[in-house]
Amino acid sequence: MRGNAPYNPGMPAIRLFYALWPDPSLAATLSGWASQARSHVQGRAMRTETLHLTMAFLGAVDREIADELIDATPYHRLQPGTVTLDRYGVFARPGILWAGPARTPDSLQASHDGLWLWLSAFGFAPPAQPFRPHVTLLRNIERNDPPADAPPPVTWRYDRMVLVASESAEGGSRYRAVAGSRPQPG
Ligand code: ATP
Ligand code: MG
Repeated sequence: MRGNAPYNPGMPAIRLFYALWPDPSLAATLSGWASQARSHVQGRAMRTETLHLTMAFLGAVDREIADELIDATPYHRLQPGTVTLDRYGVFARPGILWAGPARTPDSLQASHDGLWLWLSAFGFAPPAQPFRPHVTLLRNIERNDPPADAPPPVTWRYDRMVLVASESAEGGSRYRAVAGSRPQPG
């Protein structure tokens, strides 16, 4: 963090995103969703401990800005809420099967919009595409029709977000939590 080491302009940018991270029990449930879908579409299951719901993808961020975000994120207050995952879906082009809500809850949309508004102070602009909350379960799927039936709906209660560094490693990206937001009280 800033303060421990002088800013080094030679330091490379880091790839960052904000996400909701499921507790181990929810992650295990979602891992079951992945197994069930895999018998239908094949593909490669994400490791259970990497499952998440992306709130804002920032891409490569200069180290200086990244340090500012790391310092500021604990002061970003997330309004606690729930989202019920009740369906499978597919993003055909990247070959991804996901779990998500049939309809985006207003509260989650508001938290997404509020996060991007907060991020605008750091120079970030929201993406043009609408927010499509989802948890990626499988990569490299071999057919583009998701299973018609999903497991019983699962309600996710969230109260914080994590800022995650995505680092390329052997066999794919590695995620490292670098900061966390706090719940908005009340
Ligand atoms: P890899 O790209 O190496 O296969 P990954 O997709 O898990 O691994 P990242 O590309 O760093 O890692 O993405 C981190 C998170 O942000 C993932 O949830 C990913 O789906 C999401 N994400 C990546 N690119 C975008 C984008 N352009 N818009 C929205 N979300 C994105
Ligand atoms: Mg990616």
